[in-house]
Amino acid sequence: MQAMAFGGMKSRKRFAGCLDPFNHVLFTVGTSKAGAYFDLREGALLHSFSGIKTDNARLGPAAACLKFIEAVHKGHEGSRVVYDLLLQTLHLIEDMPGGVADVPVLFRAKMAFEQGYRPELTRCAGCQAEQGTFDNPRFFVEKGQVLCSRCTPGPEEGTGLAVSWGALRTLDFVMHQPPAMWTRLAVDPSVRDQAYRVVDRFLAYHLDVSMEDGNFRNI
Ligand SMILES: [Zn+2]
Repeated sequence: MQAMAFGGMKSRKRFAGCLDPFNHVLFTVGTSKAGAYFDLREGALLHSFSGIKTDNARLGPAAACLKFIEAVHKGHEGSRVVYDLLLQTLHLIEDMPGGVADVPVLFRAKMAFEQGYRPELTRCAGCQAEQGTFDNPRFFVEKGQVLCSRCTPGPEEGTGLAVSWGALRTLDFVMHQPPAMWTRLAVDPSVRDQAYRVVDRFLAYHLDVSMEDGNFRNI
């Protein structure tokens, strides 16, 4: 959102420390007489996320989450959900003990889930066999389904992604739990890599976005 702040340089009171990146603020915004632009009248700083700004290991992941929103969230529809999710995720990044490098991928997955992509991840969508009762589940991105080998369609419909139950359970946890709970996720690297591969595939398919050299690209 862009707005003019008249007298903003003169009045230290109205916008004190509000206009830094990562600040959570509450602004009073009006419309100019002719309706040509927004007029920023007052600002209150709600939270400065100083724990993120002063720690490069947290700043990078936080910036990655913001960049992703800029790439995929266009217009106003669904903004409330995205706002809540981003705010919760920034608090997680600021407060989480230990490394936060995995948070951006979990955030991207959660964004896709919140936008309505909610695949069934804990059973075979064909025969309804529960997780753990069969080996070698395959995930079909286009269908948003896990299938067992007996229910897997012929090669003309694709073979899906080979993925472990551990990776599927990780994604299911992220789908159903808010960011504050993600500190409970302890996944080993191979499971994490599989989960990441699934996330990349479903983002490319459902949100038309892919990551290239650390930047998101609409495809
Ligand atoms: Zn089945």
